[in-house]
Amino acid sequence: MVESFARLRAAAWPLAIGVILGGAAVLFAGPGLFWALVALALAAMLIIHFVSFQEPILRAPEQTVDDPLSALPPMTRVLLDQLPIPVMLLDDDERVLFVNRSMRDVLGPGLDRKRASSVLRNPDVLAAIAQARQGLSNNVPFSLPVPIERHYQAYAARISVSPSVTALLLHDLTVVKRSEQLRADFIANASHELRTPLAAVSGFIETLRGHAKEDEAVRGQFLDIMGVEAARMRRLIDDLLSLSRIEMNEHVKPEGRIGVESTVHQAVAALKPLAAQDGITITVEAKPGVPPVIGDQDELVQLFQNLIHNAIKYGREKGKVQVVIGQSADRQVFAAIHDDGEGIAPNAIPRLTERFYRVDVKRSREKGGTGLGLAIVKHIINRHQGRLSIESRLGEGSVFTVLLPAAPPENPAKTAVPEPVTEML
Ligand code: ADP
Repeated sequence: MVESFARLRAAAWPLAIGVILGGAAVLFAGPGLFWALVALALAAMLIIHFVSFQEPILRAPEQTVDDPLSALPPMTRVLLDQLPIPVMLLDDDERVLFVNRSMRDVLGPGLDRKRASSVLRNPDVLAAIAQARQGLSNNVPFSLPVPIERHYQAYAARISVSPSVTALLLHDLTVVKRSEQLRADFIANASHELRTPLAAVSGFIETLRGHAKEDEAVRGQFLDIMGVEAARMRRLIDDLLSLSRIEMNEHVKPEGRIGVESTVHQAVAALKPLAAQDGITITVEAKPGVPPVIGDQDELVQLFQNLIHNAIKYGREKGKVQVVIGQSADRQVFAAIHDDGEGIAPNAIPRLTERFYRVDVKRSREKGGTGLGLAIVKHIINRHQGRLSIESRLGEGSVFTVLLPAAPPENPAKTAVPEPVTEML
């Protein structure tokens, strides 16, 4: 009803013009025509302003009876409501005039007409709103700990309309903060991993300069340990470089047509001597008719090397590592690497591809692990739009299955043998 009066008020000018035209008409044509014109004008007004065709689209959500923002054009309200940025408009008493959908997602429903202090509860944001009311636009960090920790930058500014309105906008920085944290953790972990062998090497150098200088047997022993530690640093640096190279290329689609079986054989050939040291036998069983995959040959060799190497490292002494290659029902090419080692506890499985995560740090170090092998595997699989599935039973062994999309059949036009060309000379 109030809305209808508002529309009638907005229509005052056309109505007045209608009355003036009607007055003019009565002067020329008498009262009969005047009343006919007035009736016509009113009917037109009713049709245009009360039965608007655009109304269902333009009606602003949650428009209340005493809403001081009713002057805000409906289209603007709808646009504000759809904005992916959380927006709140407050009156001079710091009561909520308007919140858009994104802000309701952040702060929850039922905010209308509530005081800012009861819905925001953050002294810095409330101070920013108070300052904005004085005309000082500013921004402050704002975090919400529940249900999931989120971080925002809150911007408060006064909008110079009458009566004045204060706008509060939230800029979501959660993803940025999270990636900053990941980067910081990664640098801390990498430095720690490098510092440990470096400290050992430095310690042995000091000892060799001191009392072990003349002792040939001790010197030889220390040099061996230093060699092992230096090799560990080299492996770590190699893995760090691989990881950063693969991450850089992750969004570039690979282009080669690669046979999975020959790639697995290439990886196995490099690891056979290592497996032989522990008396482990590696077998490869490929089902017939497996199509190639679209991939990067070097990366796929590295992927299978890392997985088969792990199967050797964490497998049983004198055990078996078996690689089965085939095609699944949904046309994915799979390579499943089975070992008969100690297996992995179910709660550790989701964390295996995290950088530097190890189930048993001591065991991994003894075996020359860097904690980056499966992180590299995950990035290579992501680049190839594949999947990794891990099944394991404690005490029985594990199966790491790589699934890669099969390459589409080759374009027959490309592969067709060209017609012999006969040139008439
Ligand atoms: P690492 O260099 O330590 O082997 P990875 O990233 O390759 O690092 O693997 C992470 C951890 O996952 C390993 O430290 C190990 O605890 C566990 N893991 C990986 N593969 C196997 C496996 N086949 N059997 C048992 N545990 C495994």
